[in-house]
Amino acid sequence: MNSETEVAVIGAGAAGIAAARRLTDAGVLCLLIEARDRLGGRAYTVRHGGHGVDLGCGWLHSAATNPFVAIAEAQGRTLDRSSPAWSRPAVERNFPLADQRAYHQAMADYYERLSELAARAADVSCAAAFEPGNRWNGLIGAVVSYISGGDARDVSARDFENYAGTDVNWRVSEGYGTVVAAHAQGVTAALGTIVERIDRSARQIVVETNRGAISARHVIVTLPTNIIAARAELFFPLLPEKTEAAAGLPLGLADKLYLALDNADEFGRDSRVFARTDTKDTASYTVRPQGRPQIEGYFGNSFADELERGGTDAFVDFAVGQLADVFGSDFRKRLSIIDMHLWRADPFARGSYSFARPGKVECRAVLAAPVDERLFFAGEACSQLDFSTAHGAYLTGLTAADQVLKARKAA
Ligand SMILES: Cc1cc2nc3c(=O)[nH]c(=O)nc-3n(C[C@H](O)[C@H](O)[C@H](O)COP(=O)(O)OP(=O)(O)OC[C@H]3O[C@@H](n4cnc5c(N)ncnc54)[C@H](O)[C@@H]3O)c2cc1C
Repeated sequence: MNSETEVAVIGAGAAGIAAARRLTDAGVLCLLIEARDRLGGRAYTVRHGGHGVDLGCGWLHSAATNPFVAIAEAQGRTLDRSSPAWSRPAVERNFPLADQRAYHQAMADYYERLSELAARAADVSCAAAFEPGNRWNGLIGAVVSYISGGDARDVSARDFENYAGTDVNWRVSEGYGTVVAAHAQGVTAALGTIVERIDRSARQIVVETNRGAISARHVIVTLPTNIIAARAELFFPLLPEKTEAAAGLPLGLADKLYLALDNADEFGRDSRVFARTDTKDTASYTVRPQGRPQIEGYFGNSFADELERGGTDAFVDFAVGQLADVFGSDFRKRLSIIDMHLWRADPFARGSYSFARPGKVECRAVLAAPVDERLFFAGEACSQLDFSTAHGAYLTGLTAADQVLKARKAA
C-alpha cells in the first residue's frame, strides 16, 4: 500500500477521528491511519446482554459542555443522565455512614490543601497534600489514582488542579466507544496499519507503516504519550522536545473489570462499594451500573499494574475475594466474568490516561505545538484543561485540524 494523501492523521481515537472528520467535511483529502482493526482507540465498547459495555472511557464528563453529547444525540443514542455512584453514599455494610462522612470531610480537606500547594511557585506532587497519619490517606490515594491514573507521589499537584471537569457526568447506553467510533462515518481509514516512522526530511512527509509508505503534505499525530516517549526514532529527523514532553506526561493506569451478578435486584442501581478503606491498593466497585445486573470494578495505577502481571484472572480473583469479604462467601457463586481489557499490556495504548509529573505541566503545551506548520499534534495529553478525557482528546483534534486548514491557506 504505497499511497498519497493531503493530510495523514495518525491514530483513530477520539482526537484522530475529530480531526479527520473536520478535514473530510472541509473537503480535504485525508487518511486516518490506525494500527488496530477497529476505530476508537481508548474509547472501546463491547456488547453484552444487549448493552454496550465500555472497557475504556464510559463517562461523558463535563456533560453540559461535552461535544460528544450532541454527537450521541445526533446518532440517536440513549443518554443516561442519572448521577454517578461516586456522588451517592456508598454501601453501608462495611462502611458506616458516620465513617463515610468523616472520609468525605478528609477528602475535602485534602483537596483544599492541594489547591493551596498548586498555587505555590514550585510544583509538588499530589502526595504533598496528605496529612501525615490521617486515617483516610489510603482511600484518598486510591481515589487520586482512579482520577489521574497515577499514584499521588508521581502526579503534579498543579496539573491535577488544572483539570476543568464539572460535576455533570452522563453515560450513553450504547457505549461511549460506540459513539466515538461511529463519528468516523464518511472518513477514509486504513485499519491494521502500524506507523513506524514519520520522515519529514523532504517536502512531502513520508509516513512509513507495516503496509507501505504514505506521503502527505501535512500530518497530525495523535499517538498516546507512552508510545511517543518510548520511540524517539518515530520522528526523522528526531524531535527530542516531543519525546521529552511525552515522557513528562506518562499514561497512568486504570483498568475496569465487569462481572455479571445473579439476583442483582437487592442492590440499588449504581451503588458503590469500597471493600477496603485503609489502603490505596484496593478497587472501587459499582454495583448495578446503569441498573444492569453487573458489577464494574475500577483499579488504579501501580496496584493495577501489579495485577496485570497475573492477567485477567488476577483481577477476577482479587475482586471476587474482596466482594466475598464484604457480602459473605456465598456471594462468589453469584459472580462470573463478563470482560475486561488490560490497558498497560495493550501495545497501542500502553496505559489509560495521562498525568503530568511534578514540574512538567508545560509539557502539555510543548507536545501540542506544531512543527514547521507541517506536523501537528493532538490527543488527550495535549489538552491543558480537559486532559485524560475523550472530549478533551476530541477538542484537541479539532484544534489540530483547524491548524492544518490555516497552514493550507497560508501556503
Ligand atoms: C479504563 C479507562 C477508563 C476511562 N474513563 C474515561 C471516562 O470515563 N471519561 C473520559 O472522558 N475518558 C476516560 N478515559 C480516557 C479516554 O478514553 C482517553 O483520554 C481518550 O479516549 C484518548 O483519546 P486519544 O484520541 O487521545 O487517544 P487514543 O484513543 O489512544 O487514540 C490513539 C490511537 O492511536 C493508535 N495507535 C497507537 N500506536 C499506533 C501506531 N504505531 N500506528 C498507528 N496507530 C497507532 C491507537 O490504536 C489508538 O487508536 C478512560 C480510559 C480508560 C483506558
